[in-house]
Amino acid sequence: MQNLLHNLNPEQLAAVTLPAQSALILAGAGSGKTRVLTTRIAWLVQTGQISPGGLLAVTFTNKAAKEMMTRLSAMLPINTRGMWIGTFHGLCNRLLRAHYRDAALPQSFQILDTQDQLSMIKRMLKALNIDDEKYPPRSLMYFINGAKDQGLRAKDVEVHDDFHRKFVELYDFYDNQCQREGVVDFAELLLRSYELLSRSQPLREHYQGRFRHILVDEFQDTNNLQYSWLKLLAGRDNAVFAVGDDDQSIYAFRGANVGNMSSFEREFQVQNLIRLEQNYRSHGHILDAANTLIAHNTKRLGKNLRTDAGHGEQIRIYEASSDLQEATWIIEESKSLIAEGALRSEIAVLYRSNAQSRVIEHALFTAGIPYRVYGGQRFFERAEIKHAIAYLQLIDNPNNDSAFLRAVNFPTRGIGARSLEQLQDAARQHGLSLHDAVAQVPGKPGVLLGRFVEMLDNVRRDTSVLPLPDMVQAVLEASGLLVHYQNEKEGADRIENLEQLVSAATLFIAEEGFGRAAPALQGPSSEAMAGAAIVNGDGVEIIDADAPLNVVMSPLSAFLSHASLEAGDNQAQAGQDAMQLMTVHSAKGLEFDAVFITGLEEGLFPHDNSEKEEGGVEEERRLMYVAITRARQRLYLSFSQTRMLHGQTRFNVKSRFFDELPEEALKWLSPKVQHHWFANQQQKAAWVDVPSRPSERTQTDSGWRIGQSVHHQKFGEGVIVNIEGGGGSARASINFGRNGMKLLDLTIAKLEKV
Ligand code: ATP
Ligand code: MG
Repeated sequence: MQNLLHNLNPEQLAAVTLPAQSALILAGAGSGKTRVLTTRIAWLVQTGQISPGGLLAVTFTNKAAKEMMTRLSAMLPINTRGMWIGTFHGLCNRLLRAHYRDAALPQSFQILDTQDQLSMIKRMLKALNIDDEKYPPRSLMYFINGAKDQGLRAKDVEVHDDFHRKFVELYDFYDNQCQREGVVDFAELLLRSYELLSRSQPLREHYQGRFRHILVDEFQDTNNLQYSWLKLLAGRDNAVFAVGDDDQSIYAFRGANVGNMSSFEREFQVQNLIRLEQNYRSHGHILDAANTLIAHNTKRLGKNLRTDAGHGEQIRIYEASSDLQEATWIIEESKSLIAEGALRSEIAVLYRSNAQSRVIEHALFTAGIPYRVYGGQRFFERAEIKHAIAYLQLIDNPNNDSAFLRAVNFPTRGIGARSLEQLQDAARQHGLSLHDAVAQVPGKPGVLLGRFVEMLDNVRRDTSVLPLPDMVQAVLEASGLLVHYQNEKEGADRIENLEQLVSAATLFIAEEGFGRAAPALQGPSSEAMAGAAIVNGDGVEIIDADAPLNVVMSPLSAFLSHASLEAGDNQAQAGQDAMQLMTVHSAKGLEFDAVFITGLEEGLFPHDNSEKEEGGVEEERRLMYVAITRARQRLYLSFSQTRMLHGQTRFNVKSRFFDELPEEALKWLSPKVQHHWFANQQQKAAWVDVPSRPSERTQTDSGWRIGQSVHHQKFGEGVIVNIEGGGGSARASINFGRNGMKLLDLTIAKLEKV
């Protein structure tokens, strides 16, 4: 036991060893909240106060859940698989799988990701002949998810006008459609399991009796429904241990309610409020910057952080002339960090918006530095993977109409839009799924559709006893997807991704323990828990969801849920020492030796939208606080005078956040004076910017060079004064005399040499 506790400071020790009552640990970044929460789990188990199956812990991401299990296994000789540690979505999925009948779901219900959800809504509007300009699909989706996050079904939503009434009607229609197809969206996972627990007393009592300890990390970002779900599970007697930091609440736009912290204190009669003020993560200058910045927010519960680590290095700030130059600088700094012995995986590049990553990726790629992007296009969202998944979904649940429509004519089978309309009409008329309505379609379309369904049914029959990876392989072949991409000019990458899907299945099986006996939960009172069975309202005995996923779901169902819920980082890259690229939002809870925060420009960070919303800038500032506090030793901030975003060049002013940082902690790498070239655009050689760096090209692959005279359709004659980037992202600054200086994308602008 000495081992577990000896590395804690007195406040942390007090928090870890609190009696079994509800508690709130309110503390700033890097003060050890997550560590305290993990250690408390280990301590509760080790001292015999609880069995591993008797507690539930909620983390913010799947990655965090895995990390927690790894740390636990290192502290205790227990098998963490099967423990209830996961995200809200993951835990709800598990509950619904175990009690699918009570939740009125088919056993193999499937999870719609955001992309699937949107396309389903579009399809529904089309079928109902509804003008999607008047009722935009995306707005309807936000409306539905927002209502679900508040725990409201269509019938519970208060209607204020006709327009709103239509949204509510469509919400209802959407829910019915999902039910028919046996699919649930993310918000539904939570709402459905909330309703299940509130409706079924035996189930509720069972789980309340079981989870004597509930632990929640990143509590500041729970939404109302999640909070209600926790209350339901906690009942009157269980201890909820919540850790959080109001200064890191960054999901208000998704319904997170930082007010849950004070509600929690009140409603759970929290006697134990512990603050941790010692920061163990960051050097002094970094911490000072974070503290000074966040002090500009008015709505705070208030707390401070101190560190024993020295000041460390100053924060380096770089002003670039363009986003390409910013990327070049990041690469050069990273190279010297790596040369000094830094691990690539300990260097993170953070940005406010996903669209910023392309230029940085390009530069890293060109420099040959391995990198990994989190939260960009996820592996499971790539088109070819989506297609393969659609076939697998149909094998698992033939009634999934979204999957049916995605797969039916891809690769093409001569089934046209008209045939599909016919099929959809027949399905509506007879109240059938598309799969089941195929028999109703006459003529040639009917024959072609029949063949498709027969192929699916054959694969289902032939692969039902195969291990999952073989099943995936068989589906790739029988569907014709592999052949399709083999014949496509640029299909090689896609085939490689499809092969990775087979590897992902192999890895999944190994990690989740399918094909092996379910591991028993070990721990002092595990016998008491094992075999616990409960009886539902109809007197039917139901399986206790104690069992890990491999008992409550088929490997295929489990793999498909994993594909929807997992961040889906490319498995092939796992384990490689690579630099880490991600948005600030997805960096929450993580830490790195060196961190770059890029694009610190007004309109980007803080984001444009934040000005319009009440409290928007404060939320951006919290986001900046999260970003700064990810760094242990080195922090780099950058901004750029110009940036190409969404096909447009923006001319920028540096972020207001620079004025909110303590000057003594900063080191400006490029002169602070503003020297925009467009200020003296009338002069001929107007480019007087930061001198170009040796690595920058003066001549592009396509033969443009500085000094070249060119003609542009709109701007007339001009002279190229600078060229940046290469290949697909080459751009030139061109002095068009009276028409001024322009930054043009060389691959898009139709320039002629003169
Ligand atoms: P965040 O708010 O960013 O999620 P946190 O409060 O959860 O941060 P942790 O991630 O738990 O903080 O801890 C930050 C770092 O400090 C970790 O590397 C952790 O191992 C280390 N740490 C925490 N407590 C101690 C301690 N008492 N002694 C030494 N290191 C510690
Ligand atoms: Mg944490």
